[in-house]
Amino acid sequence: MNNFTMSHLGVMVDMAGCPNRCRHCWLGAHKNGHMNIKEFQEIASQFKSWRDENGKGISEWSFFSWWREPDYHKDYRHLWELEKALSSPGCAERFELLSTWRLARDDSYAAWAATLGPKVCQITFFGMEDTTDWGMRRKGAFKDQITATERCIEVGIAPRWQLFLTKRCLPELEDFLRLMHELDLWHRCEKIGRKFEFFIGGMTPEGCGYELEAERLEQPDLERIPRELVTLSRDGLCMLGRPESELVQELLQESKPPRMGASFPSVAIDADYDVYPNIAEPASWWRLGNLETDGVDQIMDTLFCGATPGMIANQTIAVSALAGQYGVADSQKLYNKGDLICRFMHQWGIDSLK
Ligand code: SF4
Repeated sequence: MNNFTMSHLGVMVDMAGCPNRCRHCWLGAHKNGHMNIKEFQEIASQFKSWRDENGKGISEWSFFSWWREPDYHKDYRHLWELEKALSSPGCAERFELLSTWRLARDDSYAAWAATLGPKVCQITFFGMEDTTDWGMRRKGAFKDQITATERCIEVGIAPRWQLFLTKRCLPELEDFLRLMHELDLWHRCEKIGRKFEFFIGGMTPEGCGYELEAERLEQPDLERIPRELVTLSRDGLCMLGRPESELVQELLQESKPPRMGASFPSVAIDADYDVYPNIAEPASWWRLGNLETDGVDQIMDTLFCGATPGMIANQTIAVSALAGQYGVADSQKLYNKGDLICRFMHQWGIDSLK
């Protein structure tokens, strides 16, 4: 049992990958691809031609030429046109995301992006310059985020700043606050008729994010966050969640399995043509198969049967059993409940490989 149905399926192809290797990235550090337009068309055609044993296909398709950094591919304009042409009417989608790498170096990109639907672009920080470069694992990433912010405002797109808090950035939060004021982001967005939003985000401990656990904030760290920063954050500190010690007690009572699902059921295809359901991180225990060697029929069969080890565990192992195995009863680390269950599933996945 899973929530994949015949009514609508997204197909996300990691054609070019991402210029960054963010330490919190739940998508992991898959290699960057160099897929061309013809390869994207061929993938789409394989999925669209697929039929089940009764001759029925998927009713509506959404195709995406990326699942990490949007518009990172050099043919990004053509690819957006192709996404619309390949998808069912009205099913190609843009989100409040742009390539901040491209915003910082492609002079015509911001104006093009402004002609599309979303008028907001999320921009990520891990603190000040060194810490953001460290967090995104790319020298110059922080400067790019600042330039991207400027370019967005110039064309009427509101930047939305997302700050990931780790133990490493705690000493520089006053500087970060000062930076937002110096850039006068609230007034400048008001002038373009938009609202500047800033929020403190939560980190999911799967993919690369699992390796960042040593930097995860603990309950006593909250006192070190300036009050003004909390007040300015759209959701306050809500996304940081509660201490693991509290959550584990609750999860030990949960007899149902995780049943994690996707609000928008999709498959994600990496540069090696490995295919994953978008239920959780694209890791081997979730992998549906390889489009080149296993073929689309086998992949769709595995998807609808929910037959990968991760999908089976997601529907059968009680959360209480996962909490008993992987919960740390005296941990002060902060999680929201869903993220802690993701960590348990990641730990279960690693163990299942042994
Ligand atoms: S979080 Fe986004 S920008 Fe960072 S590595 Fe992952 S996909 Fe790329």
